Amino acid sequence: MRLLLCCALSAGLFLSACSATKPVRPDRAGSIAPTQNVVVIRGLEGEGDVQRAPPAVVRRLEVEERNNRYLGRLQAVEPPDLHVRVVDVGQGLCVVGLTAEGYTFLVDAGHWIGTACADGVDKLLPDMGLSMVVLTHSDGDHLGNLPLILESREVGTLLWTGYTPPHCTHIGASGCTTFFNAREAIGEVAADESTVLNLKTTPLAPGQVFELGEVEITFLAGWHEFPDVGQMSPSEISNAVSIMVRISHGGRSILVTGDAIGRPLRGSDDETCTGSEGWAVENVEEDLLSADVLIASHHGGNNGSAKCFITAVAPEFVIFSAGGGHGHPHRETVARFLGAGTPEKHLLRTDRGSNSASDAEEGEWAETSVPACGDGSKDDDIDILFGSDGGITTSYVGPNRCK
Ligand SMILES: [Zn+2]
Repeated sequence: MRLLLCCALSAGLFLSACSATKPVRPDRAGSIAPTQNVVVIRGLEGEGDVQRAPPAVVRRLEVEERNNRYLGRLQAVEPPDLHVRVVDVGQGLCVVGLTAEGYTFLVDAGHWIGTACADGVDKLLPDMGLSMVVLTHSDGDHLGNLPLILESREVGTLLWTGYTPPHCTHIGASGCTTFFNAREAIGEVAADESTVLNLKTTPLAPGQVFELGEVEITFLAGWHEFPDVGQMSPSEISNAVSIMVRISHGGRSILVTGDAIGRPLRGSDDETCTGSEGWAVENVEEDLLSADVLIASHHGGNNGSAKCFITAVAPEFVIFSAGGGHGHPHRETVARFLGAGTPEKHLLRTDRGSNSASDAEEGEWAETSVPACGDGSKDDDIDILFGSDGGITTSYVGPNRCK
């Protein structure tokens, strides 16, 4: 059995305290104050001071109750070992998970317009707390519904970058309402004595595991300040800090990359391998980076999914969480996946109806979209099911609404 460790796991890792001290509420004018709470992390360095930290869980559903829900909903379908749903939030990201043991998690909280992510959480996790919340970065299309979701839910552990967009110099700054609302919600989680991990005060090293029973969420990358901005624009820097996590069970895995950058739009060619994706290829163990399912970075934008990254991850399935009007997923991004051998039928998208003229102008991949269906949110959710036979399946949740 591997060991649960906390504190001083390796050089470059700065978990400073193992005692459970009530976290301080954030100063509204500053960033979240450092928490001194325990974090459940399994050591990277083998032996060490073994300490049992409280589990990163507030509440889990009784297995029987969970199974009954599946039986009622899906008519005697065997509950999966792990059920992950990429909720169609339009432009943005919202990934909800439920494990066989009743642990729950959320990666990102969708767009600020509408309630698609909150509704998706309610659907898959009715009346349940969240064992873990990961916020990949501070853009509004990843934080939008966070206050609404957390309003009625307990959280075990919340991990975020602590990154404040440079233009959000003060509350009330233009274009920052979503960020400040989300930051306040994070502060409230901290005040509830949940564990809040802010990469500004608690940098993590690649390979650290958060255990949710049999399911692991492994931190691979993420920063408060990106170490090498190179050719990136300010908005690309805001994206490059994105936390990457690997969700795994039974030898199968999903890689979530937020809005990671791998080939900045300025000065990149097909071989460019920089930004956070380049960093991950260089610094994350090969076995950890490879995944069965990749939720492609930055909604399939052309400044992510660099060739080097696709080769390292070698996904069997790729999911683009995208909405209309942004040219996502970009046709050149898709071409890189197809060129690496991912079959077209293994490329799924939450914007099946998106094929607007403006998207086409911006270079959107249009082949699998269905013109004239529109691209509202909530109608192209995608399920990833880890079966008890060790298999993994991906499928659209609803019927093909356009046929
Ligand atoms: Zn985004």
